[in-house]
Amino acid sequence: MIVVMNTNLGEEVVQKVVEKLQKNGYQTHESKGIEKILIGAVGGEKSPYIKQAIEVMEGVEKVISVLVPYKLASREFKQENTVIRLGDISLGGEQIQVMAGPCAVESREQLLEIATLIKESGVRILRGGAYKPRTSPYTFQGLEEKGLEYLAEAREKTGLYIVTEVMDTRKVELVAQYADILQIGTRNIQNFPLLTEVAKSNKPVLLKRGLSSTIEEWIMAAEYIMLNGNHQVILCERGIRSFDSAYSRNVLDLSAVPILKGLTHLPVIVDPSHGTGKWRLVEPMARAAVAVGADGLIIEVHAHPEEAVCDGPQCLKPQKFMNLLQEVKKIAGVMGRTL
Ligand code: PEP
Ligand code: MN
Repeated sequence: MIVVMNTNLGEEVVQKVVEKLQKNGYQTHESKGIEKILIGAVGGEKSPYIKQAIEVMEGVEKVISVLVPYKLASREFKQENTVIRLGDISLGGEQIQVMAGPCAVESREQLLEIATLIKESGVRILRGGAYKPRTSPYTFQGLEEKGLEYLAEAREKTGLYIVTEVMDTRKVELVAQYADILQIGTRNIQNFPLLTEVAKSNKPVLLKRGLSSTIEEWIMAAEYIMLNGNHQVILCERGIRSFDSAYSRNVLDLSAVPILKGLTHLPVIVDPSHGTGKWRLVEPMARAAVAVGADGLIIEVHAHPEEAVCDGPQCLKPQKFMNLLQEVKKIAGVMGRTL
């Protein structure tokens, strides 16, 4: 349930309600607005009496029972959009953030070359996988810690922030030492121990939609991270499996963006690279993503896609990527946002 309180009676009054909830076995999460404070109460006693008992307490305006299974991620719990701050930039606010870079960190030279080009484009976040979730165990699995070191070097040289994937609970601490944003890939969305572990890192988490996860399963995965203390979750639509993969790798579900914006307060971004699997489709879908209200994009860019060790067919060359940025900027303007 969500307890809506007025802020003008002071902290003590709020604390009394928090204590009462906790005594009844609830975990509490506060969301402070200017006039109202919302207390999300999860777990605990399910009896109707506790709701009634809270309703009559001083400062309580109303108690809302949340009918959806997610609580902390819901719009009921927090009406304003969550804005995630990352050094001098933010995600989920007026500015659309673009994350760009190769699928995988392949070598020091490859990464530094593309990082320099991305920096010149004005984009602020560099992507690149050091641990790669590959379907075949016989293909390139990533440079692992060496890859993380190259990402850190690229950050030092360019000032770009780093987003990179973590696949294993045993590596969360290590990856978090290098990354600015931790990525949970599509294959790990229901790896609950991993979700719990990244929650402890206090780094923003980019949570990709599962290959075939419903909207609700996806938000519940975000709820795992939030319940474990990390409210900085970015949802990323990256396409879902369907019956026809002849012309596009996945079906990029852009309707998920306005749906999620209604159901949750979390930032939503779109990955048109994995969503389509074809570089020619990336720009039109990036434009569309911004038109439906996405807060950002994550795009695979490679200086030499024909030599890429993974996902070459969906990587944009730097020049094409610059062009995409110009086109997306026009759409952003129409949407009252900046790029
Ligand atoms: C990636 O970003 O390179 C990646 C593996 O993404 P996904 O988990 O969406 O397939
Ligand atoms: Mn990829």
